[in-house]
Amino acid sequence: MNASTADLPVVVIGAGPIGLAAAARLIERNIEPLVLEAGTTAATAVRAWSHVRLFSPWSEVVDPAAEKLLAPTGWIRPDGAAYPSGGDWADFYLQPLADVLGEKVRYGAAVTGVSRSGRDRIVDADREAQPFVIHYTDPDGTEQRIHARAVIDASGAWATPGPAGGSGLPALGEKAAADRISYRIPDLKDPATRARYAGKRTAVIGSGASAFTALASLADLAKTDDGTGTHTTWILRRGISGSTFGGGAADQLPARGALGLAAKAAVDDGYADAVTGFRTDAVERDTDGRLILVGEDARRLDPVDEVIVLTGLRPDLSFLDELRLGLDERLQAPTALAPLIDPNQHSCGTVYPHGQAELSHPEKGVYLVGMKSYGRAPTFLAMTGYEQVRSIAAHLAGDHEAAERIELTLPETGVCGGAGLFDEPAATEEAGGGCCAAPATLTIGGPASTSGGC
Ligand SMILES: Cc1cc2nc3c(=O)[nH]c(=O)nc-3n(C[C@H](O)[C@H](O)[C@H](O)COP(=O)(O)OP(=O)(O)OC[C@H]3O[C@@H](n4cnc5c(N)ncnc54)[C@H](O)[C@@H]3O)c2cc1C
Repeated sequence: MNASTADLPVVVIGAGPIGLAAAARLIERNIEPLVLEAGTTAATAVRAWSHVRLFSPWSEVVDPAAEKLLAPTGWIRPDGAAYPSGGDWADFYLQPLADVLGEKVRYGAAVTGVSRSGRDRIVDADREAQPFVIHYTDPDGTEQRIHARAVIDASGAWATPGPAGGSGLPALGEKAAADRISYRIPDLKDPATRARYAGKRTAVIGSGASAFTALASLADLAKTDDGTGTHTTWILRRGISGSTFGGGAADQLPARGALGLAAKAAVDDGYADAVTGFRTDAVERDTDGRLILVGEDARRLDPVDEVIVLTGLRPDLSFLDELRLGLDERLQAPTALAPLIDPNQHSCGTVYPHGQAELSHPEKGVYLVGMKSYGRAPTFLAMTGYEQVRSIAAHLAGDHEAAERIELTLPETGVCGGAGLFDEPAATEEAGGGCCAAPATLTIGGPASTSGGC
């Protein structure tokens, strides 16, 4: 970085919880942020699931640096013990925070490409001295270009959900059946959505927190007058074991544990039937237009009216193609972070704190943070992201001691020998057993302390 590059802003991609926290942390360090947000408001992705209640209480989803920025505006922190919905999170914290940031947030700014100025991916010469160049489209579709000293990509993974297909590709016929397939947790308070599922047979594919939420919501619908006859077929790629429903009462986030228990109740009470070891290969239609799921083992399930696919979210890496990223080949998470969160190695679904060192790439000055940093791994928590951006901002400010001093205790899921708890990609569902080999409290660069085994 040369003198003129140092004067450039740090561009943050995405005004979600972690992108906004990144901006707050940069301001705390006297570094100018510019947040580019594709949507017309802050927290566009969170608003898309505004009907879903978080399993984290308010005390765990407000960033400390953001709170300092908000305090002079008279902002009052919501009751720390209460659980916000996605809509509450956006309305009572994220949008007010974006409003304080003012012109440092540009809306309708969809990033389409990031590179080194004048250096495509293969050019070495003088590469690190060049600023980053970011291409984006503004609200009227005009292409724009801006330069930055560093780039923090907090664009999440909401827009790229996984498919039904067991191979990770859409099943045969999945695209053609799009009119009856949703990739989102249904909002059953919305009249049109309620009518879509009330009294119908629905297949839910997936075994993470989102699938649990969908199963429990559809069971609740079945108990109401207008929902009589609602029935769910729950499709899992693995079998059902003690850990399938999460940590339950052992989960250090009680509301997260309760999600699994509500899903278990839906099955136990007969509102849902579980189909295990089923990898969807094809989606066919019967003569009534209902969908028949066909497994790789040629099993054909009874026809359903609707399918809800909740197999996990994936990072969109397409606009980072000109950068030299170091990504794990399985998870698509930064190489040094991946072993800490790989569901094949950590069956507990517990997350581990980490900072800029684990989030660095061969291309210096670019970071994937937040939900996107986890690639295809589940169990990302907002408080993990807040710690990520605290460390990165400290590093960019030259405070290497603060950047390396990562101390954060994260709540364990209480699950061992099974998969993680968030929306689960196939690898997670099928991750082998094993135990909580890694600690829940970790001091990077220092001795690890284990806070409980299995
Ligand atoms: C249903 C659900 C429930 C969850 N519950 C919890 C919980 O209880 N506790 C917890 O700790 N975590 C929870 N999480 C996980 C996580 O904390 C959230 O997903 C959180 O929103 C992640 O924040 P983020 O800033 O990384 O990404 P996002 O919230 O996805 O924000 C990304 C932003 O980037 C924007 N964007 C995307 N692409 C571009 C682009 N090309 N250019 C410009 N902008 C772009 C989007 O519009 C969006 O505003 C939950 C997740 C989901 C999906």
